Amino acid sequence: MDWAVEIEHLNKTYPENHVTALDDVSIAVKPNELFGLVGPDGAGKSTLFNILTTLLLPDSGHVTVLGMDVIADYKKVRSTIGYLPGVFSLYPDLTVEENLIFFATMYKSKISENMSIIKPIWRQLLPFKKRRAGKLSGGMKQKLALCCALIHKPTILFLDEPTTGVDPVSRKEFWEILKGIQQQDITVVVSTPYMDEATLCDRIALIQDGRIIEVATPSQIIDNFEGSLYTLTTDNIFGLLEIMKQCTLHCNYYPNGDQLHIVFYEDAATMASAFQQFLQEHQIEFRNMKRIAPNIEDCFIELVKPK
Ligand code: ADP
Repeated sequence: MDWAVEIEHLNKTYPENHVTALDDVSIAVKPNELFGLVGPDGAGKSTLFNILTTLLLPDSGHVTVLGMDVIADYKKVRSTIGYLPGVFSLYPDLTVEENLIFFATMYKSKISENMSIIKPIWRQLLPFKKRRAGKLSGGMKQKLALCCALIHKPTILFLDEPTTGVDPVSRKEFWEILKGIQQQDITVVVSTPYMDEATLCDRIALIQDGRIIEVATPSQIIDNFEGSLYTLTTDNIFGLLEIMKQCTLHCNYYPNGDQLHIVFYEDAATMASAFQQFLQEHQIEFRNMKRIAPNIEDCFIELVKPK
């Protein structure tokens, strides 16, 4: 297959603080995929995006974007991709309209020629076209940045944490926009620390401490969950976590708001009843204990837990 992005055995360290940001990373993205790179802060997502978009050199490994080597063919790569970096990428003192004109001019493309790609997003920005970009709301800034990253009709779009700091309603809307971009035959590679957003991707790579933990579809990752997950609600989650140190059952547990999530690895019914007995012996009040289906966050915790 001709991959849209192919990453082989990529390594990157920052010697100044002795950090291995990327550790033998290999991923391949299919053409026209909506591919997610999902992991917490410091996992190595921005480092990987900066290498993919030719802004940073790796220590070793090989990366191609649309068959072009990101080091040898960096100029061609730059003209073919769109990039929405994690940091604010617009000119705050230019108006909405001036920003778009600036980016179109930089890429030698005409706004009128590519308006069809950005139209659904641009329509929402039109009432603010004379407003300075720095004065837009977080969600609107991201929409403008997206228009600027798309105005030269890239074949592949990279977005580094585009929804970080954006309110939940705008986040949902932003993902619908990304689906719309994918439908225009643009490959979309997006990173996020929000596990709930992972399910909106065709495939995801889970990343932690510079290492790829798993690459699969969200449903494959959920299907591969080993163990039986239970939840229970308590008014004293901190007290319960303290008591849990004395629990000798073969399980993994972690807080989830005012709930405890607990995974059993042996016969679920037997383990659940032994656990309830343990809670009663320690006079822990709890309610709504039930078995639940794991979400991506549960899978992530399970995959990265110390072995
Ligand atoms: P993420 O985008 O997932 O938050 P980053 O790629 O920004 O992860 O960071 C990965 C690791 O590399 C972190 O430990 C971070 O502190 C470190 N790091 C990132 N950029 C630099 C840099 N320019 N110099 C030194 N260390 C860096």
